[in-house]
Amino acid sequence: MPDPRRARSRRLQLPEVKRKVIIMETIAKTNKHIMPTYGRFAHTIKQGKGATAFDESGKAYIDFGSGIGTNSLGYCDDEWVEAVCAQVQTLQHTSNLYYTSPASDFAEKLCEVTGYANAFLCNSGAEANECAIKLARKYSHDKYGKGRHTIITLTGSFHGRTLTTLSATGQSAMHDHFFPFVEGFEYVEANDYGGIEAKLSGDDVCAVMLEYIQGEGGVVELNKDFVDAVFDVCAKKDILVIADEVQTGAGRTGKFLAGEWYGHKADITTMAKGLFGGLPGGACLANDKCANVLTAGTHGSTVGGNPVVMAGGKAVLDKVSDAAFLSQVIKKGDYIRARLDKLNKVTDISGKGLMLGITLNGDAVAADVAKAALERGVLVLTAKEKVRLLPPLNISDNDLDKGLQVLEEILS
Ligand SMILES: *Cc1c(COP(=O)(O)O)cnc(C)c1O
Repeated sequence: MPDPRRARSRRLQLPEVKRKVIIMETIAKTNKHIMPTYGRFAHTIKQGKGATAFDESGKAYIDFGSGIGTNSLGYCDDEWVEAVCAQVQTLQHTSNLYYTSPASDFAEKLCEVTGYANAFLCNSGAEANECAIKLARKYSHDKYGKGRHTIITLTGSFHGRTLTTLSATGQSAMHDHFFPFVEGFEYVEANDYGGIEAKLSGDDVCAVMLEYIQGEGGVVELNKDFVDAVFDVCAKKDILVIADEVQTGAGRTGKFLAGEWYGHKADITTMAKGLFGGLPGGACLANDKCANVLTAGTHGSTVGGNPVVMAGGKAVLDKVSDAAFLSQVIKKGDYIRARLDKLNKVTDISGKGLMLGITLNGDAVAADVAKAALERGVLVLTAKEKVRLLPPLNISDNDLDKGLQVLEEILS
């Protein structure tokens, strides 16, 4: 493997024109051969270590986005790399017709940390949600028969890009193409308990699906009273609560699950993004009531529970489930808030732990801030009209300071 520092110094000696040519080649090839479903920055990422990414010309960036919260331990964390490499050299895949210890070890640890009974293992957040939706509908169908299949979701939510999870997503802007959408989803304004109650007047609802903190929707926290009331009414009516913790889970908010901030444990919780440290994976967790609903033949995934992904996930779990690790996530989040809150272009900071949404004052535009930060060597995300930060959970104080200094310059 090339030594990243040597590659970097070599590249840094390249004249500017040559550096641009290298990068343009990747961009041109991508634009030619990969479907244009993303509005990308005209920058490449070649390699990384910790919270620092390097582009193909050797330029360094402090990454406050973690590949959208997925590189939870930053780039190429030592223990994570070791676990993944050891596994890929032993067994990269077999089918789910057999048992493997990477999957059983991962699932055992995940259940131990979360208190859930069991998990379905898949490859993405959308798939974890797809599983949750199938599970909720089958739970109700097994028990109450046909017709009780509606799932209530919240406006501003994001649940994935498959046709079903897109149908579940409560953003009308995402319901413009791809007709017909999947039936059986009803949308209620986030934090509007009256709206939920109104939808429950019939007998057709089997589940309510929510993100405790809406990520793509703009780092919007649900009110505790609203969440309390939803859990209360659902328990009374045997309606399942599905918590989509694809973005909030695995320590992102300073608790292993964001539900802990609210004192609630949903019947079903979905996870993905940060749980596998940058490998594609997902998990749909079920409590005792829901653990044996999906039986042999009712659901599956060829590469779900893949040994390499599971080894990476176990390395993440071993670090992130530690109480001291989680409390430093909260501390770092508080530190970022303290530094940014007082800047004159910042009017509000939402979120918890290292999932933060920065509301800008009148004339500042989030996309412009992201672009300016990138030019100065800091990667940030946006969510709706906010600047969104999802730095690696183990980011060093030094890297945090470097990134914050740039944001301070831009936001003052
Ligand atoms: C990212 C995200 C998803 C979709 O995950 P994919 O891995 O992209 O399929 C679903 N729900 C939430 C809350 C997310 O943030």
